[in-house]
Amino acid sequence: YPSLSKLLVLFTVSGGGLVAYAEANPTNGAYAISSSESESKKKKVVVLGTGWAGTSFLKNLKDPSYEVQVVSPRNYFAFTPLLPSVTCGTVEARSIVEPIRNIVRKKNVDVRFSEAECYKIDAENKKIYCRSAQDQNLNGIEEFIVDYDYLVIAIGARVNTFNTPGVEENCHFLKEVEDAQKIRRTVIDCFEKASLPTISDEERKRILHFAIVGGGPTGVEFAAELHDFVNEDLVKLYPGVKDLVKITLLEAGDHILNMFDKRITAFAEGKFKRDGINVKTGSMVVKVAGKEISTKEMKSGQISTMPYGMAVWSTGIGTRPVIMDFMKQIGQANRRVLATDEWLRVEGCDNVYALGDCATINQRKVMEDISAIFGKADKDNSGTLTFKEFQEVIDDICERYPQVELYLKKMQMSDITDLLKESTGDVAKESIELNIEEFKSALSRVDSQMKNLPATAQVAAQQGNYLANCFNRMEECEKYPEGPLRFRGTGRHRFRPFRYKHLGQFAPLGGEQTAAQLPGDWVSIGHSSQWLWYSVYASKQVSWRNRALVISDWGRRFIFGRDSSGI
Ligand code: FAD
Repeated sequence: YPSLSKLLVLFTVSGGGLVAYAEANPTNGAYAISSSESESKKKKVVVLGTGWAGTSFLKNLKDPSYEVQVVSPRNYFAFTPLLPSVTCGTVEARSIVEPIRNIVRKKNVDVRFSEAECYKIDAENKKIYCRSAQDQNLNGIEEFIVDYDYLVIAIGARVNTFNTPGVEENCHFLKEVEDAQKIRRTVIDCFEKASLPTISDEERKRILHFAIVGGGPTGVEFAAELHDFVNEDLVKLYPGVKDLVKITLLEAGDHILNMFDKRITAFAEGKFKRDGINVKTGSMVVKVAGKEISTKEMKSGQISTMPYGMAVWSTGIGTRPVIMDFMKQIGQANRRVLATDEWLRVEGCDNVYALGDCATINQRKVMEDISAIFGKADKDNSGTLTFKEFQEVIDDICERYPQVELYLKKMQMSDITDLLKESTGDVAKESIELNIEEFKSALSRVDSQMKNLPATAQVAAQQGNYLANCFNRMEECEKYPEGPLRFRGTGRHRFRPFRYKHLGQFAPLGGEQTAAQLPGDWVSIGHSSQWLWYSVYASKQVSWRNRALVISDWGRRFIFGRDSSGI
């Protein structure tokens, strides 16, 4: 029924008082969605994704001269840092999600939303191809095309299994709200199964063995949550099987939480040992069968197997297929994520921006620019700088390139001194001359370590905010091409490059203890940090509704414990 379907599309995409039309595409049968001619000449911004980056962009976009179309298979924003708390019922799933329509409702910018996933980006013709996320049969109109003037890609990443056999089929992931809910049900199922009278003791032990793969922040936090859930709530309800419970955390590297300060890593490993959580470092999972996990010892190469009841895979993130396809189109085929410049513009195409976990600022260009900064400072072309000049260059680099600043901050002072010594011999004397080439080569040796900004909500949210501010000022800058004074930079751009401000990170370790690594490498571990964690996470909620729900969930847990019904 083409006319009926047209009407249906018209109905679904024309919310917010805008008149939109849908037209059957003669080539592939998809529907094209674009603004009607009678509509104002607003620039059309298409935003892909309603995660941290996309939502932060939408929240901060204030210029009403844009018409915004949001496309995402998820019609809500999820506060991912609290997902591990959802796995054990410390916080309810509904408390950490907020409908995207609610978030954009009160804005004076026209924002329309389509619950669909983008499966193809055609940057040449400025179109994106989408497919409805609805399951029911929409009579062939589930596919549509959207035109854009500006495209903001913020579709995040997918889980990475590193093609390890059996992971997709047998492991749980912890990426989406549904994953957390599934884990919660499965934990209870394991306890109920193990309590059945027909089960042998050995089988009981297997069922109650929880294996967590990946010793990063998510894996560690889940292990801590699960340990608390078992010891504070489930032991009272399942006294017969409580002694059989085992939690194992498997990590291929030498330590867990290896992106944190060494003091935090050591504390976390010590605490987990005291809590009875079995931490196996240097142990890489090579296969996951229905009831057994095979691991390879990194040092000896020895393969061993262990029975398990439930496995959670949390080893990092990979690229979404639509991004891989897009990267091939624009000549970035051999990259892991989309490369952008420091203004978050995707390299190799016009008016396309990428932010959050699906993008990274191109390091090669950064290293070239750093070389240029050194070249400029070396006025007499001697190949050397005085220590003072050198410090000014470093300040300049840190100002322009947060990645380098992050790296320099992460290094202990002694490491920096060593690095300088490699090129100078002695940094104590101000008069000493530094050899630029040697320093640059020392810097490029550590290049791999300072590769990308971390894939975190903090980075994604700051990028969304930055880009929205650029869009808010775009018209002003077009009117005055030289740009308002404070935004004028060099080269083609009109805005300051994106600058990441690291506000610190937390690692909740269970038992009301949290490790916090704050700016300036200030480390705090214990109960006081847990209260800091509560206040920061409550304040960071996207709405007052979420804030109230999350705080009341915490209160409920303190008073009544976690709910252990398997629904
Ligand atoms: P996401 O937030 O993943 O959003 C991607 C969006 O794109 C989603 O709305 C998705 O539905 C949509 N999408 C997907 N495919 C398509 C498509 N084809 N077309 C259109 N839309 C699409 N970071 C921290 O800083 N602190 C923490 O404590 C922390 N804890 C975490 C705990 C867990 C369990 C997890 C999983 C992550 C955690 N992170 C944390 C990382 C943080 O969540 C991510 O870095 C952040 O979500 C990245 O934001 P994003 O907008 O790039 O992607």
